[in-house]
Amino acid sequence: MSFNVTSIRSEFPLLLRKVNGYPLTYLDNSASTQKPWVVINAVNHFYKHGYSSVHRGIHTLSSDATFEMERIRAQVASFINASSMEEIVFVKGATEAINLVANSWGGSNLQSGDNIIITEMEHHANIVPWQMVANRLGVEVRFIPLCLSGNLDLPRLMSLIDDRTRLLAVTHVSNVLGTMNPVKDIVAQAKSAGIVTLIDGAQAVMHYSVDVQDLNCDFYVFSGHKMYAPTGIGVLYGRKDILNMMPPWQGGGSMISTVSLKDGTSYSDIPWVFEAGSPNITSIIGLGAALTWIKDLGMDLIMHRETELMRYALDQLSLVPDIMIYGSLQSCGIVSFNLGKHHAFDVGSFLDQYGIAIRTGHHCAMPLMQYYHVSSMCRASFCLYNSEEEVDRLVTGLKRIHNLLV
Ligand code: PLP
Repeated sequence: MSFNVTSIRSEFPLLLRKVNGYPLTYLDNSASTQKPWVVINAVNHFYKHGYSSVHRGIHTLSSDATFEMERIRAQVASFINASSMEEIVFVKGATEAINLVANSWGGSNLQSGDNIIITEMEHHANIVPWQMVANRLGVEVRFIPLCLSGNLDLPRLMSLIDDRTRLLAVTHVSNVLGTMNPVKDIVAQAKSAGIVTLIDGAQAVMHYSVDVQDLNCDFYVFSGHKMYAPTGIGVLYGRKDILNMMPPWQGGGSMISTVSLKDGTSYSDIPWVFEAGSPNITSIIGLGAALTWIKDLGMDLIMHRETELMRYALDQLSLVPDIMIYGSLQSCGIVSFNLGKHHAFDVGSFLDQYGIAIRTGHHCAMPLMQYYHVSSMCRASFCLYNSEEEVDRLVTGLKRIHNLLV
């Protein structure tokens, strides 16, 4: 498969920046990716030529923008192979999608004495909303533990399930370890016990083809800004029959059918019933452009290239003296590590002096930090536009720190 990283990089204007006098080495892609010209231009073009509010106007601009928004909804459905565009709810991001499910589905389906299962490797976005609803309703939150390998201790799953287990929520790819969970098998086990399933795909959709029908999950969530699209837009996929049973979670314009002060409100159909207020139409336009860009490149090429780059990164990083890499060496786009006794913040600040951007801290995964008995880790995360040369810069920077700070 032929791949030209220089040509891909030339599509991302920000990658030309210098930071502290050095060429930018952007290795914080799991937090958020940079944006290609096609996305910037689509947003720019919309503001210059097509901008309008949607769903409420009879005028040309509004109906064109509405048409575009609904076209992109269908595009998202096709991207993850949902069976219908009604299964695609636009939200702010993965966090809002999980909060929607926790409040709407959770609020109407969970009862005191029930339990739900998450895992020890979840991002806070897939922990805190469940804890909140669980505290409110008297529900127990159980978790699948981690193994040192960075994989989930899946044989434990069946022993966590009982006749009061209602939901299992699990990340597709860990945002710290890069572990890709066998979510299809996990969903199959949960389904055999009649449990509703939610997959957090925030770290998966930009790296892998996702087919929600094949996964057979009930909910799948992700954020646009981690897949080359603007911030402020994300997706909740929900199976039509489940979405149809869920009450609205926020009220306001766009989600109603009729409103009467005397007779109350009747609601719109899915998915609009879950989209109260003016949607982030500009970011939806950007998301559409990002999905087209990804599709034109081809997921097979993306997966092939990123696997090759990760192999190189893991090989090179494991040669750095005193490095502790967490998780398995079959990571998806993410390597978390610590360097000897140096605090992750010191390592991150030092690398920044050389224009190398990595993330340091608890990565919104404090239970995972607790598992490894550390307060923070360094995380380098890669995507399609990263190069072997950037891996080399990171490795050189880390060796420098090791020599200087001993
Ligand atoms: N889930 C995972 C695995 C993540 O990595 C993140 C963000 O880093 C989120 C959820 C939350 O995404 P957002 O902040 O875009 O809502």
